Amino acid sequence: MSVERPAKIGIIGAGAVGATIAYAAMIRGVARQICLFDIAKTKVHAEVLDLNHGMLFVPPGVVVGSDDVEVLRGCDVVVMTAGAKQKAGETRMDLAVANAGICAKLLPKVMEVAPDALLLMVTNPVDVITQVAIRLTGLPWQRVFGSGTVLDSSRFRFLVARHCGVAVQNVHAYIAGEHGDSEIPLWSSATIGSIPLSQWAVAGHGRLTQVDKDQIVHQVKDAAYQVIQGKGATNYAIGLAVTNILEALVHDEERVLPLSGLLHGFRGLGDVCLSLPRIVGRRGIEAPLPIPMTVDEEAGLQESADRIRAVVRGLGY
Ligand code: NAD
Repeated sequence: MSVERPAKIGIIGAGAVGATIAYAAMIRGVARQICLFDIAKTKVHAEVLDLNHGMLFVPPGVVVGSDDVEVLRGCDVVVMTAGAKQKAGETRMDLAVANAGICAKLLPKVMEVAPDALLLMVTNPVDVITQVAIRLTGLPWQRVFGSGTVLDSSRFRFLVARHCGVAVQNVHAYIAGEHGDSEIPLWSSATIGSIPLSQWAVAGHGRLTQVDKDQIVHQVKDAAYQVIQGKGATNYAIGLAVTNILEALVHDEERVLPLSGLLHGFRGLGDVCLSLPRIVGRRGIEAPLPIPMTVDEEAGLQESADRIRAVVRGLGY
């Protein structure tokens, strides 16, 4: 991906998630051009009109869109959001067959028009879909990755910050593993302003008991179900999370983000995509950082990996 010129970003799927990513990316001025592709022609054209009508109020750029994949030609990054979404009561894994099928049809065409693009998968179950996309495209693992637990980690940091009465930016903590029910909170490496969370005891700024921790983890895992129950889709936080990832890629920031990527022997784990903190820049993702973990956290990661791998195998990839 070139950093000499402002980026051209493609978004597949102009639904709740795709359109909100476009909106957030436009406000942040991440790209000179945002290209939306969706099979729903009327919908994609309406989203393009609505977004361009706000161009006066944001950094210069343009939004284009079509029901023809040609609109993605020459994109530096393509974000995949197309596909079925969870309905109330469904898990992300329930979407695997339908969404892997969409990828199988679509990704070869995307590769034809944007052969040099980085592929950022958002469609769920994102870890499974990322591994499917790596297999389908044959691209190096550094160039095909998923938004993973960036959103879950943001929810986690928000809840810890609120409990302890500090700014969310001063909480450093990650959710690892599946973006889904088997995800693992990495409490042992969590800090607030360099103080390990296990030692956090500042007057007037709530300590975390085991009950508090359990409640926070429950809320993180339940977050998507709660939002979907109330409004049918999650879109704002994922829109901002993906825009944050796009900035790291386009501006070659070398930011540490918990993206989903293929593992090659991390703590004995391989041949599975899941989230761990990694350095992210214009060439894509690097191998996971050697983040310290307790025995329980490592065992949780192993279980999460087994669960993702089983679904990928079930799809025949
Ligand atoms: P949505 O139904 O609002 O939008 C999906 C869009 O995909 C629709 O506009 C549809 O026309 C389009 N589409 C379907 N098949 C297509 C194809 N073959 N080619 C092009 N476009 C196609 O759904 P949504 O709420 O935007 O969610 C999209 C996906 O993102 C879901 O799988 C959802 O679970 C996932 N999601 C992931 C995260 C995350 O953190 N990874 C967060 C939220 C949602």
